[in-house]
Amino acid sequence: MQYGEFDANSLMYITNRPELVFVRGSGSWLYDEQDKAYLDFVQGWAVNCLGHCPPEISEALATQGAQLINPSPAFYNGPAIELAGLLTRHSVFDRVFFANTGAEANEGAIKLARKWGRLNRDGAYEIITFEHAFHGRTLATMSASGKPGWDTLFAPQVPGFPKARLNDLDSVKALIGPKTVAVMLEPVQGEGGVIPAEPDFLQALRELTREHGLLLIVDEVQTGMGRSGRLFAHEHAGIEPDIMTLGKGIGGGVPLSALLAREAVCCFEPGDQGGTYNGNPLMCAVGAAVMRRLTSPGFLDKVDETGRYLGAALNELVARHGLVGERGQGLLRALILDDDRGPALVKGALEHSPKGLLLNSPRPNLLRFMPSLTVSTAEIDEMIGLLDTLLHATRKA
Ligand SMILES: *Cc1c(COP(=O)(O)O)cnc(C)c1O
Repeated sequence: MQYGEFDANSLMYITNRPELVFVRGSGSWLYDEQDKAYLDFVQGWAVNCLGHCPPEISEALATQGAQLINPSPAFYNGPAIELAGLLTRHSVFDRVFFANTGAEANEGAIKLARKWGRLNRDGAYEIITFEHAFHGRTLATMSASGKPGWDTLFAPQVPGFPKARLNDLDSVKALIGPKTVAVMLEPVQGEGGVIPAEPDFLQALRELTREHGLLLIVDEVQTGMGRSGRLFAHEHAGIEPDIMTLGKGIGGGVPLSALLAREAVCCFEPGDQGGTYNGNPLMCAVGAAVMRRLTSPGFLDKVDETGRYLGAALNELVARHGLVGERGQGLLRALILDDDRGPALVKGALEHSPKGLLLNSPRPNLLRFMPSLTVSTAEIDEMIGLLDTLLHATRKA
């Protein structure tokens, strides 16, 4: 595809992109170069938690960008201290390390657990993870993931990630041995198809890991930062993990992630962990603006309410079209179809005119919804209306 004087093929081919270029965004709406509007229920894969170009993020970038962009991670800076303070104030964790992507935060969590195992558990290093889990695209986080096919894709894997089955405590117990140091999971498996870990499973897992002296790591890259209707999804189960990772929503669209841990687990020594951009003030200023908005009075209650509204609307589609069901938490939800027309629906929604709709189908038999946490009920109604039309049009003969 040609764009002005340039060819889009100068970009490495890693995914099939539609032949359009987005040029601006506002709230729940994106606009392409023909100025066609698209209602966005993907939001950069649950990244833009306050929608496209919210004023607090544009302002934080402009103000901090004019003041100090990067003094280097060898020095303190105000926004990093402020954001770490906001995160520890609003969670059960005591210390924060900032990184740039979810995968990088998870790599940090894996390293922290392995170091802790060396100091406290006689060199134990295995971290039990789960089938269908998604923890990122670096070699270690791909190895920790349970995506079918990933065990051989870039073989050999990083060793030490035996896989249990979600919501099956016995499958975890069976894997615990002298080399085990931690259990790591997503409170809701996002890429796996929006599959929640049951609250009683999370509670039992916390008890089991405590009994065995193991760490419990929650990957809240997708479920954290208000997405579930609480600030962090593990709060729904009332558990206190030892380590948590954040990504996606924490930057509201800019590259920022975080590794959080309880004091007793913070065993990194100088030289163990770092990274050129960690805790840079430009990104941390955005993160602080996001945290202030998410923790403002009534914000999370509204997310919870909007999530219920979306869930009820999806259930009406289920009844009307004879679909399988709806599931999820807060504003991370999935519609389970009665066949594999997910990709066809995504394509039809994008191409719909005069207005398009951005949807995501992580598995062919389901659609995933990750709108802005500020999405309005009118925008949900508009999305449901369009999806209703598309479900009619793609109905089996
Ligand atoms: C997206 C995601 C990641 C990876 O984050 P990146 O920023 O793409 O590296 C890790 N864990 C979960 C649960 C995710 O949803």
